[in-house]
Amino acid sequence: MRLADGIAILPLFLTAVSATGAIHLKGGTIIAYNKQAKGLKIIRGGSVVVEKDSITGVYDSPPSRLPPGTETVDVTGKIITPGFIDTHRHGWQTVFKTMASNTTLIEFFGRYSSFVAPFFWNATDVYDSQLAGLYEALNAGVTTSLDHATSTWSKDAADAGLQASIDSGARVFYAFTFANITGLITVDELHPVFRQLAKKPSLKTSPTELGIAYDGWGPNPNVPEINKMMALAKELKVSVITTHSLQGPWGFSNSPEDIHALNYLNISIPIVFSHASFLTPAGADLLRSTNQYISITPESEMHYGQGHPVSYNIQDQASLGIDTHITFSTDILTQARIWLQQTRYERYLDVLEQNKLPGSNPMSAEQAFLLATRNGALALRRDDLGAIMVGAKADLLVWDGNSPALLGWVDPVAAVMLHASVGDLEGVMVDGKWVKKGGKLVAKGYPDARTKFLKTARRLQAVWKAMPLPEVPAEFNGNPVVHPPRVDVVRGPGDGYGNIYL
Ligand SMILES: [Zn+2]
Repeated sequence: MRLADGIAILPLFLTAVSATGAIHLKGGTIIAYNKQAKGLKIIRGGSVVVEKDSITGVYDSPPSRLPPGTETVDVTGKIITPGFIDTHRHGWQTVFKTMASNTTLIEFFGRYSSFVAPFFWNATDVYDSQLAGLYEALNAGVTTSLDHATSTWSKDAADAGLQASIDSGARVFYAFTFANITGLITVDELHPVFRQLAKKPSLKTSPTELGIAYDGWGPNPNVPEINKMMALAKELKVSVITTHSLQGPWGFSNSPEDIHALNYLNISIPIVFSHASFLTPAGADLLRSTNQYISITPESEMHYGQGHPVSYNIQDQASLGIDTHITFSTDILTQARIWLQQTRYERYLDVLEQNKLPGSNPMSAEQAFLLATRNGALALRRDDLGAIMVGAKADLLVWDGNSPALLGWVDPVAAVMLHASVGDLEGVMVDGKWVKKGGKLVAKGYPDARTKFLKTARRLQAVWKAMPLPEVPAEFNGNPVVHPPRVDVVRGPGDGYGNIYL
């Protein structure tokens, strides 16, 4: 099979290096982005051309001219989408995978957080765990992550987490946490560490960028500490700032109002509020007027009981995140699907509770797709991400349209959002480079990383297995802690709750 200009159509994912390095994805159904309409544009039998790290052409039919030596990949029958964007993650924790399946947030703080781990982890552990987690995310089609990197408890640990991010090949916004950890490190001591990391030469040649994470904005901020940190953020032009925004009964805040009161909300640096579970109407107005975003982490907010009672109403300033991938899946596709159906459920319930019936569907599959892709880019103020359009970074996914799950699809957005799973994901490209091909991770470092990670994981898991579960406190941040009624899934005596199996 040959194109008119004589360029051979090579088998899917042939790895031969072409003269220019350009790649032509030909014949697939492309879920492209229409910037003017702020919506999706479906192109059937289209072409995407990638040169270096960017998309340089999106066509309705194969282009008549291609850069000399372009590698053409036949993607007929496949669906091409942008990579997913995760705007909240703690990537270093991979080692704890499956150990906290029935945990609560209070137990999490006392057992798995950066207030406990540093006393047992070394920097190599952070590297191995961060890298394995990012390979897991890449395999799942998450090409961009905003990592709220709480593993900055020492110079070496901070460096290890950043280096693993760079080495993964993923696009990581590595938000270095400025936090005082009693007996370990202070925010003042972290300033020179951050300055040093910002000079890392490999940052310049990697899609990974530096940001800042900080959770001390409210309710009782240390203003001199914040002013000093923000001066550094501005001086080093960090890409993003992120914070855990919870409010309500959780007893800590980090709300848009808190940051606005310190005059740091309306700045050129994007600020991402993870969860924002108890966002107020005034906080929502502030997000809209300053164009700052929240990161809804659907599964985490349900799993841990943060809740998201009002997040349905601020989805025009919202993106999606994972949070702790040790407790559930790391794929944004699952998050988008859960969120879509949870939003529908909530809006329907409002109608049903009035003894009325819904006559239309309150949230579309396309809206969920936008949250999982473009809105993440907008949260990071990166016009060149989360979209298939000319000029965007080449962060692309190739879905097998003939998999058992997708066979017979007509609507590509519904096919991905409501039917596909990570197992249907054949190809993942970040910054113009394939990291997954033919359904397998092809990153050079992966086999070695897997072996090292398993050794590290087994050693640290043994420590945590021997660690008694923390006592449930009577109160947390001034509010009483109670036990919600446990469900019963077994007829007669017993409720089937069981155990955790470590
Ligand atoms: Zn978090």
